[in-house]
Amino acid sequence: MITTSQIDNNTADSLFRILESGKKKSVDQDKFLNRLARTGILPDDPRIQELLRNFRIEELKERKSPTITQAEFNEILKQNALIKKSLTENLVIPDFEAFCKQVEEIFQDTKKNHRGNVADYIPQLARVNPDHFALSICTVDGQRFSMGDSRTNFCLQSSCKPINYCLALEELGEKKVHSHVGREPSGHSFNELTLNGKGLPHNPMINAGAMMSCSLIDRQNNIADRFDKVHKTWEALCGDKAVSFNNAVYLSERQTADRNFALAYFMREKHAFPEHTNLTETLEFYFQCCSIESCTYDLAVAAATLANAGTNPLTGNVIFKPSTVQNCLSLMLSCGMYDFSGEFAFKIGLPAKSGVSGALMLVIPNLMGISIWSPRLDHLGNTVRGVEFCERLVERFSFHQYDSLVGHSSKINPRRKQSEIMASKVMELIRAASHGDLDEIFRLEAEGVSPNTADYDGRTPLHLAACEGQTEVVRHLIDQNVFLSPKDRWGNTPLDDAKKFKHKEIQEMLENALKTKKTGITKHR
Ligand code: GLU
Repeated sequence: MITTSQIDNNTADSLFRILESGKKKSVDQDKFLNRLARTGILPDDPRIQELLRNFRIEELKERKSPTITQAEFNEILKQNALIKKSLTENLVIPDFEAFCKQVEEIFQDTKKNHRGNVADYIPQLARVNPDHFALSICTVDGQRFSMGDSRTNFCLQSSCKPINYCLALEELGEKKVHSHVGREPSGHSFNELTLNGKGLPHNPMINAGAMMSCSLIDRQNNIADRFDKVHKTWEALCGDKAVSFNNAVYLSERQTADRNFALAYFMREKHAFPEHTNLTETLEFYFQCCSIESCTYDLAVAAATLANAGTNPLTGNVIFKPSTVQNCLSLMLSCGMYDFSGEFAFKIGLPAKSGVSGALMLVIPNLMGISIWSPRLDHLGNTVRGVEFCERLVERFSFHQYDSLVGHSSKINPRRKQSEIMASKVMELIRAASHGDLDEIFRLEAEGVSPNTADYDGRTPLHLAACEGQTEVVRHLIDQNVFLSPKDRWGNTPLDDAKKFKHKEIQEMLENALKTKKTGITKHR
């Protein structure tokens, strides 16, 4: 009997052989890190820092790349499940390189779009270079990829709203939070002076609702600690990375806050806030949250935490409960994109939140988080390139939440391994041969599926066609010069099958072909 540890040892040996540097019987660090990076596991990933310490540093002193021996490598595989998953291409996007290539194409096409204008209601936003464009992706397995200005900071603005809502939910629960804020799209612009029929803000994704979330977070504490809580939450969401604060943005926001004050007074008049809410403090807290700064490189990890039901994929820390994230994503889907939310939910079918800085956070549940930044906005306040990127992405990949209902489509599903895709195509070809579906056979051949492939039992399309009396298919396969006498696991050839099931015409066709073509090779794979 084969034991699990034998399988593990075999895997370890094969992986070691792939990574081994010549005859040195060791793996060098650069090669190892390169290989991991191709699967999306980057050198700054906190999950591999401990492991990197295993590489011998003596070599570093001699300016050589440090190495590890086979025994050390085996130990690493035993202790670090991530490495094994990555090297055996078992992460959530198995062929990450191919996926990134496609994303890069979409990014470059989208970059050509120069429409829209930067927000100009405060000078700090009006002065931002409109040409910035950044994109970062982080999967729920922590595979990362970035393009453009992904290390340049920008302020969160409205993209802080979902997180404040999560914080309020975690602390007070759904019932309490929603006794102060609704969960319907407003049908009005984000800062419109309007409340719902109960005198409450329509939802937490617009200004009035976001101020309400701020009034609810950690209210027994002083304002400095309350801000600290939000700030620390963003750092945890970003994978324990430092997140900064733009004081100039904060001061400007505070100075140009008439509409937000009007909204706050309107809510106070309707007794929407919890008792003893300090209005000015609440508004300032809200402006501070909008002025938190980070870059797409880190914010993609925050988005991936939402995609991963509240657990950070890089640190493994649980930031929010899954039920909190579920509520938040539901409202991001219906209300996250200003007055374009309905259209976005229809076309893209994914939860997202944008902000007037040009930020966009897109969540593909159970798969990945995406952070995009491009400051030019459309007339509704959404980043023009951000929206275009999402449209193109969902056109190419089966990411829309209802794509699975459409069945066979030309969209790519990067969640599947190439080998799995090919295996399922082989099965489709064999099934088409047995049903006599020539159109399907042409289509699969055009996709590159070889008519000489066989299933687990060594049954080829020719076996099945001969067995089921599919004369036209047999004729086509002979014309394609397939192997005429492949043997299945019971030792039978297609000719044996034709005889057994008494398909005379097929029997003659095969006998003639065997005489003239002499391609009766018995090996079929
Ligand atoms: N600080 C902005 C405001 O309250 C946020 C705008 C936004 O990103 O939607 O007006």
